[in-house]
Amino acid sequence: MMRIGIFGGTFDPPHAGHKKYADELKVRLSLDKLLVIPTSTPPHKGKINSASAEDRLNMVKILFGNDTDVEVSDMEIARGGKSYTYETVTLLHGIYPDAELIFLLGSDMLFSFHSWRNPDVILSHVKICAVTRNDEINEEELREYVEKHFPDSKERFITCDFDPIELSSTQIRNAVRDGEIVEGLLDAEVLKYIKEKELYL
Ligand code: ATP
Repeated sequence: MMRIGIFGGTFDPPHAGHKKYADELKVRLSLDKLLVIPTSTPPHKGKINSASAEDRLNMVKILFGNDTDVEVSDMEIARGGKSYTYETVTLLHGIYPDAELIFLLGSDMLFSFHSWRNPDVILSHVKICAVTRNDEINEEELREYVEKHFPDSKERFITCDFDPIELSSTQIRNAVRDGEIVEGLLDAEVLKYIKEKELYL
């Protein structure tokens, strides 16, 4: 069965941390394909100094352009409005009815998963992989959470640990605005795009 990972994010801009995350998760979870899906209007984030959806999508395509096992999807941006995960995974299940879909969820988001819209619909279509950073969430805590909120779907949760680069898009936006050097934190072509489009100034 084909295993497909789903990696959503704001990607404002996409950076070396996202690339490492994608590269490692593909291997650790034996993914045949990774779908990278930039969100439309981020429900959880403010809007200071941000790039347009079109620019974010273009930068994500640049970052992952050489990876034949990565597909960048504009499905959330094309849909517009708030991006709800249950809608996205329902559509993906329709497109890939025979695949095993694995939704990658950052450990910072894990313990609010029950408050997302229609978590049971999400769980009916995808497995949730809680991606922990350097074992900061222990298995025990995760088991308790799942037991409390989703006792009938325990097998739908898996974990994967990885070692992140200490880097965030916020940090890069601020650095670009302040004229600091960001080479090395970003793909060279993405940086070129940011400069040409005069983003984050
Ligand atoms: P912001 O600073 O704007 O909040 P961000 O750098 O956290 O952005 P997002 O686009 O929100 O970037 O990231 C999407 C997902 O990518 C996150 O949920 C997280 O799982 C992962 N991610 C973000 N930064 C890193 C990093 N430095 N290393 C590994 N994974 C990361």
